[in-house]
Amino acid sequence: MNPIQWQIQATDGNARAGTITTRRSVIETPVFMPVGTQGTVKGVRFEWLENELDARIILGNTYHLFLRPGPDTIRQMGGLHSFTSWDRSLLTDSGGFQVFSLTDLRKLTEEGVEFRSHLDGSKKFLSPEVSMEIQAALGSEIVMAFDECPPGDAGHERTRASLELTARWAQRSKDRFFDLQAAGMDAGLKDGFRQSLFGIIQGAGHLDLRRESLDRTVQIGFDGYAIGGLSVGEEKSVMYEVLDFITPQMPTGAPRYLMGVGTPEDLIEAVSCGVDMFDCVIPTRNGRTGSAFTSRGKLNIRNAKFIRDDSALDPECDCSVCGRYSLGYLRHLYQAGEMTASMMISHHNLAFFLSTMRKAREAIKASSFQDFRREFLSKLSQNDGKGV
Ligand SMILES: [Zn+2]
Repeated sequence: MNPIQWQIQATDGNARAGTITTRRSVIETPVFMPVGTQGTVKGVRFEWLENELDARIILGNTYHLFLRPGPDTIRQMGGLHSFTSWDRSLLTDSGGFQVFSLTDLRKLTEEGVEFRSHLDGSKKFLSPEVSMEIQAALGSEIVMAFDECPPGDAGHERTRASLELTARWAQRSKDRFFDLQAAGMDAGLKDGFRQSLFGIIQGAGHLDLRRESLDRTVQIGFDGYAIGGLSVGEEKSVMYEVLDFITPQMPTGAPRYLMGVGTPEDLIEAVSCGVDMFDCVIPTRNGRTGSAFTSRGKLNIRNAKFIRDDSALDPECDCSVCGRYSLGYLRHLYQAGEMTASMMISHHNLAFFLSTMRKAREAIKASSFQDFRREFLSKLSQNDGKGV
């Protein structure tokens, strides 16, 4: 049986509105997936994600869960759904991105990558096979192939070598993935539906290599396709150029996922190119540092001009934080070091990202996406340079 069903409900230019049906939830796209790094979305309980925010899918990070509590513990606890009690869809990354971006001590070979744990300095090894084994123990609905992510400013030769390694690793990921499914190692099995596996397109800012990576990934064949290696230090114009070039060439019959990007503006630009799925840590990371995303741009809760401001964080937001608490009160909580401040700004930020995707979806269905995009981007710039 097909592990995910992908249906396009409407298109507007290159933008698409669709549904991804997994064994655990129906996901309406375009979708923003909150990041649950260590088995929790930082500062936001599942009750809020399920009820008010209505997130249908969240992420889990293979690197972090591999190091702590470890795949054996999670498997013994019945997989990541059972361990955490999150029963909607999960996407797990391959661990590669964290190893290549967060870990200093590493040795890359054809076989895989050796690194030291950032927790205790112990030697660890990740490879396509090990990543597939961990992701089977986690039991996520969407498994990511193990790839190498070169720096955003990598030259042509270095990027080509990297994408060739990524292609060989993609095939090894797929082979091991299907062995594990056949052996019944998927901890999240439900109603006989297996996990799905997404391939990743690399190629940094080189359009010819992006195209080559796309061809090779599609040739191997996956349930969905992701664009990796963007928002890793390259200029924003390079990211938009790559998205504009590669997204419309990706298979229409599978979901398209832009990994680790980005700001509300980035999301809308990528939706206009035809991306369906997003994840990024910024709603919760910025929430913890007092930075709020609003329909009028970013604002910093620490700004003294909010001391006696009795309006909402975002008067246009219908989240429960904006419905009840004033900017002045939230600022006071933040300045006083109260943890509820970080939690409430994270909550609002996620509400803003999720509702932005819902509005984009409605606009695509109404064939008015370009009007929506123009209005959304022009409003976002209102706070630029003011109060940030
Ligand atoms: Zn809000």
